[in-house]
Amino acid sequence: MSLIVKKFGGSSVANAQRVFNVANIIIEDFKKGHDVITVVSAQGDTTDDLIDKALEINPDGASKREMDVLLSAGEQISISLLAMAIEKLGYPVISLLGWQAGFNTDSHHGFSRIKTLNTERLKNEIGKHKIVIVAGFQGINRYDDITTLGRGGSDTSAVAIAAAMKADLCQIYTDVDGVYSADPRKVDTAKKWDEITYDEMLELAALGAQVLNNRSVEMAKKYNVELEVLSSLERKPGTIVKENIKMEKTLIRGVAKDTNVTRISVIGLEDTPGVAFKLFNKLAQAKVNVDTILQSVGRDGTKDITFTVPSDQCKTAKEALESATNILTYKEISSNEKIAKVSIVGAGMESNPGVAAKMFEALYDAGININMISTSEIKISVLIDVDYADKAVKAVHDAFLG
Ligand code: ASP
Ligand code: MG
Repeated sequence: MSLIVKKFGGSSVANAQRVFNVANIIIEDFKKGHDVITVVSAQGDTTDDLIDKALEINPDGASKREMDVLLSAGEQISISLLAMAIEKLGYPVISLLGWQAGFNTDSHHGFSRIKTLNTERLKNEIGKHKIVIVAGFQGINRYDDITTLGRGGSDTSAVAIAAAMKADLCQIYTDVDGVYSADPRKVDTAKKWDEITYDEMLELAALGAQVLNNRSVEMAKKYNVELEVLSSLERKPGTIVKENIKMEKTLIRGVAKDTNVTRISVIGLEDTPGVAFKLFNKLAQAKVNVDTILQSVGRDGTKDITFTVPSDQCKTAKEALESATNILTYKEISSNEKIAKVSIVGAGMESNPGVAAKMFEALYDAGININMISTSEIKISVLIDVDYADKAVKAVHDAFLG
């Protein structure tokens, strides 16, 4: 007998028929004698719809505390409906809100971190041999106010329970059947992996391959919780995410693109010490997430610094720099939103030279110009014109995995 933690995303519980489908998946394992704790997200687009309702009331943005009260309601609906379905099918079940399940968080409304998970109630209900259904994405702070963990936070709720309860298995059910080497809707030769490492998953998620929430993978890595990503609509094995996997011959685990990228160039900066510090410090104070950075070689006493930011932070970044003219002198700032980042990820590239050259060759053959390049131990990224992003993904994918 094992303890299994399952998590179902919003699409898996979108309507009554799907709720019963999930109930049956849970009951199947319960009937085998396993203890099952299930975390669910809000049904379908509920969370987005709730956000729209809030904007109707206050287009300037409601307070974060009240947003948490509102958004947590989505999960309250889905846990009760799922519990009702299991009841109807004749099995013992109880639904619990985040606070009832012991989720204590900090007070960062809208993006709270779990501080502790008090497992007493969970253990109690499991002890009574009940199927436990827990509302994902939510907790309570030390003032007894409802908090939420940030969009997609239910994955993190599930991993936290699996870690704290020392579960034997943590299964994340979604509408795709695993982790692929590229978006299977766009690249027909995309491969599904049996296994992938936490680090590879983190890099792929950061690049927009949103199968799992990033925080959940970080937590799984920290507490060594093995995850399985699988489909709730088909009964077949998915992809296991864990620390070490048997290395296959493939160097590359995935090709991903991110189109939420804007390039900002600060032209004609003074070529003196401390300029990069002042510039990026200003951006850090404005909470801008800077990604790739390139500094030109100084010439005639001036230099240029180019960097990328998520497109929705471009305005903030420019304003921060424009308000810094007392400490920074430069000629002009320009920006380009029509940029995409295409990256390859693979733990295998660390020990294999020539991976970068192969990627650049594939882009050259496809006639695609590279603007900027950045690398990390297990990732190589290029910035290109956004119109070529899909073509680039396909060309690079074919070169390594075609
Ligand atoms: N319902 C929340 C959201 O849509 C949490 C989740 O889906 O994990 O972001
Ligand atoms: Mg959702």
